[in-house]
Amino acid sequence: MANKAYIETQNTLPVYDECDILVVGGGSAGHSAAIAAARAGAKNIILMERYGYMGGDATGGYVIMVPKLSWYNKSFVRGIQEEWFTRLSPIPNAVLGPDLSKIGKDSDQALINAWAKIHGCVSESEPKRLVRAVYFEPNQLKIELDKMLLEHKDAIRVLCHCWGTKPIMEGNEVKGVIFESKEGRKAILAKVVIDATGDGDIFRQTGAPYSTLADGETRSSTTALVWRMGGVNYDLYYEWQKANPKEYASLRQNLAKVAGFISAPLPSAQNDVVWVNNWHPNRDCATIKDATETEINTRNTIRDVIEYLKEVCPVGFRDAFLYDIAPQLGSRGSCRLKGEYIMTANDFAFATKHDDVIAWHSTICMINDCAPVEIPYRAILPQKVENLLAPGRHLSADNVAIDWLNLIPQCIGTGQAAGVAAAVAMADGTSVRDVDIRKVQNILIDQDVPLPRNERVDKSYTELCEQYNYGLYTDLAKKMKADAEELKEYRQSSIPIPGKDSSH
Ligand SMILES: Cc1cc2nc3c(=O)[nH]c(=O)nc-3n(C[C@H](O)[C@H](O)[C@H](O)COP(=O)(O)OP(=O)(O)OC[C@H]3O[C@@H](n4cnc5c(N)ncnc54)[C@H](O)[C@@H]3O)c2cc1C
Repeated sequence: MANKAYIETQNTLPVYDECDILVVGGGSAGHSAAIAAARAGAKNIILMERYGYMGGDATGGYVIMVPKLSWYNKSFVRGIQEEWFTRLSPIPNAVLGPDLSKIGKDSDQALINAWAKIHGCVSESEPKRLVRAVYFEPNQLKIELDKMLLEHKDAIRVLCHCWGTKPIMEGNEVKGVIFESKEGRKAILAKVVIDATGDGDIFRQTGAPYSTLADGETRSSTTALVWRMGGVNYDLYYEWQKANPKEYASLRQNLAKVAGFISAPLPSAQNDVVWVNNWHPNRDCATIKDATETEINTRNTIRDVIEYLKEVCPVGFRDAFLYDIAPQLGSRGSCRLKGEYIMTANDFAFATKHDDVIAWHSTICMINDCAPVEIPYRAILPQKVENLLAPGRHLSADNVAIDWLNLIPQCIGTGQAAGVAAAVAMADGTSVRDVDIRKVQNILIDQDVPLPRNERVDKSYTELCEQYNYGLYTDLAKKMKADAEELKEYRQSSIPIPGKDSSH
C-alpha cells in the first residue's frame, strides 16, 4: 500500500473556540501547564485531551510511582508535583512514601529498615538515607486532577475526547490547532499553543526540528501495558525475596520467558495490590503496529504470569487475581523536540548551570548519585517556530539524557513552567520566545518551585548541592570526564534486564 495515496479534498472548518493559551494533552505536563497558567493570572485557557480523564501515563497508564523527589535532606521537586500528594494524603490508601519531614535521615536505621522493602524509598548509595519516592492510587489521582481544574473553571475550559491532529500555521507562527471529535473536524485559534501530547503530535508538523526514536537501546524505546494484581501479600513476597535470593533471581529471569518480554511486579500504595510493569523492546509508542502489538501481546500473557507467580511464590501470590488493566498504552517516548537547548549526559556529569533554569530535578541517573539537575527553559522552546512550547516527555534531550528526564516530576516541572511562561507572555504582550524569564522564575518560586541561585529561595538548596559537589564524586562521573566511552557502556548496562532493579 506504500505507493497508494488518497487526496483529501479542501475543507472549510468551523472554529470551535478561540483562546489565549491552548494546551494539547492533559497528562502530567499538560494538566500542570493549564493549572500553572491559570494561577499565574491567565484567564482564557483551553485544555484539550483525547481521552476522558487527565493524567496521561500517570493515571491512564498506571505508572503509579514517582521516584527520587529528594536528595539528602531536601526535596528539590515541589510545586504541583508535591501538591498532588498533599491533596491525596487524607484519602485512605491513596499515597504511600516516606514523609517529607523524615527524608535524608541516615541515622534512623529502624525507619530505613521499614522502608527498604518499598522500591526507591531508600538511597542506593551509602550512607543509606530515606528518599522521597511516592506511590499513588491512579483513580484517586484522576479525581483530584479534575478537582484542580474545577477550582480554575473561570479560566480553564476543558475539552475531553478531542484529538489534536494538526497545527494551524501562518508562516513559522502557530495560530491554533485542528482537532477531531464526535462532533467532527474543527479548529481552535490560540495565541500560544503548548504541545503536551508526549509524542510531539503538534510540533512535528510545524517545521520545528525534532528527533525520532532512532536509538533502539534506550529505555524510552520500550512500550508497556501495565496491569495490576489484587489478593497479593507484598510484605510476604518481600520477605521471600530476602530469604531466597537465588529463587528470586530465577523468578525474574523466568518471568521474562513466561511473558515473552521483561515484566516485574512492583509495590503499590496498598500491600495487597502490585502493579506489573513491563518493557517491550524496540517499540515506538506512536506507531500503529507497535502500539497494537503491545496491547494484545501483554493481555495475552497476563493469565500465564499470574499462574507462574502463584506456583513459584505461593506465600506472596497464593490468592492473587487480575485486578485491572491500564486503560491506555504505556508510552515512554517517541519523537522529541530538538529545541533551543538539547539536554545531554553532560548536564548530569558536569552539573551544568543555566540562567534560564525552570526546574531543578532529582533524577534516576546514577552517574551523579541522583543529584538535582537544572532544566533550562530553552529545552521546551522550539527552534524556528513561534508561539509554541513543548514540555513533558518529548522535551529537548538526546538519546541518553531522555532516559533520565522523562519521569513524572520532570514532566510536571516543565509543564508548570510552560504554563507560567505562556501566562507571562500574554500579560506582557511578548512572544514566548522573548518572555521575561526572570518574571517566569519568580512566579514559579511563588508556586513553590525551588530554583537555584535565586535570592528568594532558601540558600541551603544551593549550599547542599555545593557541599556534595552535585553528586560528581561518584566514580562513574569522574571516569566520564576522562573517557566518553564509559557513558556508552553505562547506558547499555542501564537498560532494564532480568535480574536488574528498575521500575521505570
Ligand atoms: C510503563 C511506564 C513506566 C514508567 N515508570 C515511571 C516511574 O516509575 N516513575 C516516573 O516518574 N515515570 C515513569 N515513567 C515515565 C512517565 O510516566 C511519563 O514520561 C510521564 O508520565 C509523561 O507525562 P507527559 O504529560 O509528558 O505525557 P503523557 O502522560 O503521555 O500525557 C500526554 C497526554 O496527552 C494526551 N494526548 C496525546 N496525544 C494527543 C493529541 N493528539 N490530542 C489530544 N490529547 C493527546 C494523552 O492522552 C495524555 O493524556 C514510566 C512510563 C511508562 C510508560
